[in-house]
Amino acid sequence: MKLALSDIHARVLARPAGYYDHVCSFGTINGTHLILPDEDYRMLCERYRHGPTTAEMATNFVAAVARWLPAKTRKVHSDQFCHRLAQCSACPFWDGDARGGWGKCHKCGCARLKLWCPTERCPLDPPKWVET
Ligand code: SF4
Repeated sequence: MKLALSDIHARVLARPAGYYDHVCSFGTINGTHLILPDEDYRMLCERYRHGPTTAEMATNFVAAVARWLPAKTRKVHSDQFCHRLAQCSACPFWDGDARGGWGKCHKCGCARLKLWCPTERCPLDPPKWVET
């Protein structure tokens, strides 16, 4: 996919902070254009155009708490947390600077706290990490 840098710039005001640098980090700048692998282009489109609404995030949060409350284990081991965080950090949907450093997944709306929950999984199909 070949995108004009001016077109990416034109969307900056309607996107979260860091949008331009984040998009450019997935491709190669060639003159006035950014060359992006098609798979990354699709991921970035989904992230920035179809993030969860506030109502969807609230629904996801309530469902996550309902799954977590009866769990015998309160949180995952720190090794498991680090594995999950590494997966998210390498994922185009993850914004580690959002929410004052708590992070945000633009696929489901979760923050870093979800990575500690043994009853949660990544929302992708297939998921990048799963319940323990
Ligand atoms: S939970 Fe899954 S989709 Fe969300 S940022 Fe992490 S790896 Fe990506």
